[in-house]
Amino acid sequence: MNQTRTEVVADGPVIIGGGLAGLSCAIELSPARCIVLSAGAISTGTSTGWAQGGVAAAVGPDDSPADHTADTLAAGAGLCDESVVRAITEAGPEAIEWLAAQGTRWDRNPDGSLKLGLEGAHGRRRIVHAGGDGTGAELLRTVVDKARTCESVSLWDHSPATRIVTEDGRVAGVEVSTPAGPVLLRTPAVVLSTGGVGGLYRHTTNPLSSRGQGLALAFRAGAVLRDVEMVQFHPTALDVAIDPMPLVSEAVRGEGAIIVNERGEWVLANPLSARDVVSRAEWAQLQAGHRVFLDARTSPGERFAELFPSINATALTAGLDPTRDLLPVRPAAHYHMGGVLVDLAGRTTVPGLYAAGEVASTGLHGANRLASNSLLEAVVCGRWVAQRLKAELGTDASVPDVAGRHWADEKWHPEEPVIDHLRGIVSTWVGVLRDAEGLQQALEDLLPYVANDTGLVGYLVARAALARTESRGAHTRTDFAGQVEARHTLLSLADLPELAEREAVPA
Ligand SMILES: Cc1cc2nc3c(=O)[nH]c(=O)nc-3n(C[C@H](O)[C@H](O)[C@H](O)COP(=O)(O)OP(=O)(O)OC[C@H]3O[C@@H](n4cnc5c(N)ncnc54)[C@H](O)[C@@H]3O)c2cc1C
Repeated sequence: MNQTRTEVVADGPVIIGGGLAGLSCAIELSPARCIVLSAGAISTGTSTGWAQGGVAAAVGPDDSPADHTADTLAAGAGLCDESVVRAITEAGPEAIEWLAAQGTRWDRNPDGSLKLGLEGAHGRRRIVHAGGDGTGAELLRTVVDKARTCESVSLWDHSPATRIVTEDGRVAGVEVSTPAGPVLLRTPAVVLSTGGVGGLYRHTTNPLSSRGQGLALAFRAGAVLRDVEMVQFHPTALDVAIDPMPLVSEAVRGEGAIIVNERGEWVLANPLSARDVVSRAEWAQLQAGHRVFLDARTSPGERFAELFPSINATALTAGLDPTRDLLPVRPAAHYHMGGVLVDLAGRTTVPGLYAAGEVASTGLHGANRLASNSLLEAVVCGRWVAQRLKAELGTDASVPDVAGRHWADEKWHPEEPVIDHLRGIVSTWVGVLRDAEGLQQALEDLLPYVANDTGLVGYLVARAALARTESRGAHTRTDFAGQVEARHTLLSLADLPELAEREAVPA
């Protein structure tokens, strides 16, 4: 492999991440040119492709963005930015139409109206879906196909970004590790759309490669991160020794399934409670030595395979028939509400650095994401970043090699043996229930590893969790059960001098 660094100049933006947020941004940028970097092959390693439930949008006749806003604020437990919630929920119906115009085949009723699912803590049926529980696959197919046909989009696969280069405090480029050797892309604008952090944990529904690389890139470039302690655990990951764990969508409970222990006792009265409530109830059962199951045998019962074909297929592969068997489940790290602090144009605190999708903290989710609001945010905010970039950079910027670079090196894997060790530390001390002693232990154990992205991001989540001395939304401290006045946890390099000494930041 040639290790000489190539330097290339791109006047147009470089988008890091080829999920729904990154590719919506790239498509919306057209005809302005851009480069999209994907850590693996395009279409792999995204949470987008795995989404089941759908996209929340107030499109039903009995619904309104105001009702959607109210449900989102209630779930967010005091940390949402209300004006952001209003803006994004109001953009929902148009986003559904935009995706349809790009080619998404939404599930529809015979009269052509959209079929709407119900999920936890939504007061209405407002989950727009495709292919039953195959929404994510259909969305990813849509944006990948569209991006491939956009002459303005240059897709670079197997090309993880390794460093954001700044000069005089603003973005000047991005270093990329390609199978053909390192490349420095000089660009005035970088968009982070790298997804979530679930891979930091032993039990997760995310691709294992989702370990917060975008947070590490942004933090090292000097950006402020917000509320990174807020990790949502999904209460119904299928507990059948598969890593990452297959998800059983909340929509199954929307169709009447209940959560029970091995004695058949209900684990909580309302199985459609918010995710943190269900996860804590399950955690308590597990800690008391019980097992936890999803019981879908009566409802949706015989309709299971028709309504949830993907989940049904996964269960059958694991030897479980949802119409006859209880499905073993447990909480698993699923979604990151915290992220890189941005405004509604996706601007971070570093000029030239933007973020959209799960890596960003817009203020939509607060302390707890309402189900199916994340795909909505990814598509809406990905496009808003593009509109801002077009206004700032114009539409005639050039990027090199617009035909794209498709490397066929499927064997290229950046995995390190240390990752498993780090996942163990984060899972043990920074999980569903946290306390000061455990978080201090996590910080001590992770500090030697902060030069590694996974070690750094685990450290930052633990640091923020220690700073939040209350229980709110997805963050539960057993030593601080109550709530104090709502405030955000902000982290930046300047606040954490111990990291500079540990080479967390390149000299
Ligand atoms: C199993 C599952 C089910 C879900 N169901 C739903 C649902 O029903 N509704 C809903 O709203 N949300 C759902 N979510 C959440 C939702 O899917 C994600 O929040 C959303 O897809 C995130 O999109 P994204 O574009 O931000 O990131 P992703 O889709 O995760 O894409 C991240 C991209 O970044 C790339 N990348 C990462 N690091 C680098 C790097 N250093 N260099 C280059 N590229 C990099 C990856 O290769 C990938 O292309 C679900 C998530 C999971 C895991």
